[in-house]
Amino acid sequence: MIFVMERFALKNEIEEVSERLKSLGFQVHLSQGVQRTIIGAIGEGIHENMDSFLVLPGVEKIVPIVQPFKLASREFKSESTVIDVNGSIIGDGSLQIIAGPCAVESREKYLEIASTVKDCGATMLRGGAFKPRTSPYSFQGLEQLGLEILAEARALTGLPVVTEIMDPRLIDTVAEYVDVLQVGARNMQNFFLLRELGRINKPIILKRGPSATIEEWIMAAEYIISSGNSQVILCERGIRSFEKYTRNTLDLSAVPLIKQLTHLPIIVDPSHGTGQWKLVEPMSLAAIGAGCDGLMIEVHQNPREALSDGPQSLTPENFAGLVTKVQQIQGILRHTQNED
Ligand code: PEP
Ligand code: MN
Repeated sequence: MIFVMERFALKNEIEEVSERLKSLGFQVHLSQGVQRTIIGAIGEGIHENMDSFLVLPGVEKIVPIVQPFKLASREFKSESTVIDVNGSIIGDGSLQIIAGPCAVESREKYLEIASTVKDCGATMLRGGAFKPRTSPYSFQGLEQLGLEILAEARALTGLPVVTEIMDPRLIDTVAEYVDVLQVGARNMQNFFLLRELGRINKPIILKRGPSATIEEWIMAAEYIISSGNSQVILCERGIRSFEKYTRNTLDLSAVPLIKQLTHLPIIVDPSHGTGQWKLVEPMSLAAIGAGCDGLMIEVHQNPREALSDGPQSLTPENFAGLVTKVQQIQGILRHTQNED
């Protein structure tokens, strides 16, 4: 249930409503908009006498939240969430391009590809330091050394860095080295990890689980937000279907749906979403058309020699071509939006 306060309601009026709700057993979350505050009453509380709140000073109306997710919903917060990742802004209508190899393979190779993707127009870097794979015998990542290399690449390029977090015990360590922590698709419903990520003050990229519905995915975001961290960026990376020509089926309808249902930014990963480098550029262009806030693209100096995900990685030349087209499409869309 949300309590919409009148425009410019006073601080003590907001406090009175919040305190009453807490005494009825609700968790209280405030959403402070430019003009008005919305108070979310979440969880199991006593629902009796809600109308009595309408006579409290400053309360304009009470609206039930129909969706199972509350804090992530547009009903709770109508303004889109904008996240500032050390100067790279996600969710304000601009487009972030996160690029880099699947995994950090060596210091030399990572620093080189980081500078290359920056020169091509990437606005953030990616790279896995912890890479538990389907097979325990495949390359598992450089771990701590990988984090140090990521931090060095950040210092070298000035670009924010994203890496995946898997183990709740490593959250503080990983957060020391990078700007954004990514929850991988296979961990989307690792609720303990999600709750722990709710306790830190860093943006989280939450990938969609390979077989998660959109509702389950948003509920996973709700775990992070309700634990205290509202800086959640959703990432569509394809879901498992009967189709075998692609590694996953990239569900681009998720982009406008997420925008309707939630206030959270959404980016698209066409590399894992298709598994094939030749499909990465067309699906990136489609994703921008669908309205995403950013792309996550795997790029490798020599995809044939990549230790993981070579078949879906772009060469720097192909990445440069992609960025040019992406910027053209983005320019047209922005121009059209400004005319509307
Ligand atoms: C990744 O981005 O490195 C990754 C492993 O992706 P996903 O979790 O989407 O499979
Ligand atoms: Mn990968």
